[in-house]
Amino acid sequence: MTNETMFARAQRVIPGGVNSPVRAFGAVGGTPRFFERAAGAYLWDVEGRRYIDYVGSWGPMVLGHTHPAVVAAIQAAAARALSFGAPTEAETLLAERLCELVPSIERVRLVSSGTEATMTAIRLARGFTGRKIIVKFEGCYHGHADALLVKAGSGALTFGHPSSAGVPEETAAHTLVLSYNDAEALGAAFARQGAQIAAVIVEPVAGNMNLVLPAPGFLQALREHCSRHGALLIFDEVMTGFRVALGGAQAQYDIRPDLTTLGKVIGGGLPLGALGGRRDIMEKLAPLGPVYQAGTLSGNPLAVAAGLATLQLVVQPRLLERIAATATALTEALVAEARKAGVAFSAQSIGSMFGLYFREAPPKSFTEVMQSDRARFNRFFHAMLGQGVYLAPSAYEAGFVSAAHGEAEVAATLEAARKAFREIG
Ligand SMILES: *Cc1c(COP(=O)(O)O)cnc(C)c1O
Repeated sequence: MTNETMFARAQRVIPGGVNSPVRAFGAVGGTPRFFERAAGAYLWDVEGRRYIDYVGSWGPMVLGHTHPAVVAAIQAAAARALSFGAPTEAETLLAERLCELVPSIERVRLVSSGTEATMTAIRLARGFTGRKIIVKFEGCYHGHADALLVKAGSGALTFGHPSSAGVPEETAAHTLVLSYNDAEALGAAFARQGAQIAAVIVEPVAGNMNLVLPAPGFLQALREHCSRHGALLIFDEVMTGFRVALGGAQAQYDIRPDLTTLGKVIGGGLPLGALGGRRDIMEKLAPLGPVYQAGTLSGNPLAVAAGLATLQLVVQPRLLERIAATATALTEALVAEARKAGVAFSAQSIGSMFGLYFREAPPKSFTEVMQSDRARFNRFFHAMLGQGVYLAPSAYEAGFVSAAHGEAEVAATLEAARKAFREIG
């Protein structure tokens, strides 16, 4: 069996052959790898080829793949029960952990994906404030709920347009799309419509347009405008939670959002998301309050077991610092290699997330991200893949390092990169 035959077969029964679009290699071309197993920093495809993994299932695998303690916790949970649809003690333990670790979370509800978490956060913000307008930023991804699949309209300050067919214009008409890191545009939006804004939702470190760090003062400006106008500030930490820092980006930048969404790492590789925040807001959720939300598999015993086991290890002293040091070493060495090859390239990392850019300096906005050399990234991607290094198949994704990535993996990656930069230079 080859990746190619499997992809051909999949396309006969699954739209595009994949269950989430970016997996199809549409941006980079070529055949997606079909994987069979994974361990630590490595993946093996159906052809038996091994890859160093920098995708980490798009974020969750912060400990590396198939960590024995996580697998054992899932197996033990599975032997007890797969699902009750009724409360369990483990859900409370996980909720306690999240309240303890994430500074702004006083109450938390578990769901099954990041999308569910952000969708609920939006509904809750609207229900709590009695307002309709949601502010988001171009290039930030918050899952695929209708209100959030919106891109900027023409002109600097307009209501958005649906970024997907099937999203009514009327839905997008309540979403205002601004530029990330543009505190001035934000001020102007609040000056005009502050009394109608229910919430501002933001990736406090943007990881879905490659990696873009918040400009100094940007997150503070968000907090101040929201507080002054009675709008809620939602930090979407589905990606940054337990990646940027133990307490998320909110701990790193010392900002207290009203609501926080989590996912990815907190499920340790199983489907789990969470929505948490101020008690007075969270208690507007059913059954206490009028904002409806529910889920047959919410707080699923296997997902909660995986999450608890993962967080148990993530909180070990200095673990995240060690992964962050690996990410820094990797990106600094990649920049040095590119320079030697004369390739216009930059890179940076924060915590265990990193960005690679085919441009002279790391981008500070969505516009700057779009100015990177995509064709060159695509050639680099394939040159690395051919040498057994699995990067995200798109120039617009962040990369992830895990606790299982050590000096050997970094050295092997650099050796591959040396060749790849020369090939594309
Ligand atoms: C991945 C992601 C989501 C969506 O989570 P899913 O589990 O894929 O639904 C939402 N927000 C951010 C910031 C993400 O990175």
